[in-house]
Amino acid sequence: MILVSSCLLGNPARFDGQSRPCSLLTKYRNSGHFLSVCPECAGRLPIPRPPAEIQHGTGKSVWQKRCTVQDRNGLDVTAEFCQGARICALLAQKHKITAVIFKERSPSCGVHAVYDGTFSKVTLPGQGVTAAYLQQLGYKLYSEEDLTEELLQQLLADDTEK
Ligand code: SF4
Repeated sequence: MILVSSCLLGNPARFDGQSRPCSLLTKYRNSGHFLSVCPECAGRLPIPRPPAEIQHGTGKSVWQKRCTVQDRNGLDVTAEFCQGARICALLAQKHKITAVIFKERSPSCGVHAVYDGTFSKVTLPGQGVTAAYLQQLGYKLYSEEDLTEELLQQLLADDTEK
């Protein structure tokens, strides 16, 4: 199975109750290869919810306890983000995940970049809280912005062989 951010498959899991469907992924959503997850929902955050950002750091620095995740109202939601990541890791292990395709720039799912904590659309290089956790466990991560038809076909073929 391939672990995929729920919002990329068209599910309204985002903080604002919206989705961010990725046409390549939705094209193959009935292939039987995708396991849809939303780490923030897994961490029991509601839909809708205030937007949250890692405060001046990345997912890796959250796990190193060098920074927190706070929502726009200043509420510390670090525990919920970390719990969501642990649940995603358990699912990944249980379902023998062969790859992860996550939403870029999300504080949970970002693969190459995350917002910087100022809620002003400025990004930092690095990963979200769940993405960092899964990478440290050895999973291969891609964002929807990495995807091409060829790459997705390869990931689907690799998953079929396992
Ligand atoms: Fe999408 Fe990940 Fe945000 Fe959930 S936490 S809405 S899956 S980007």
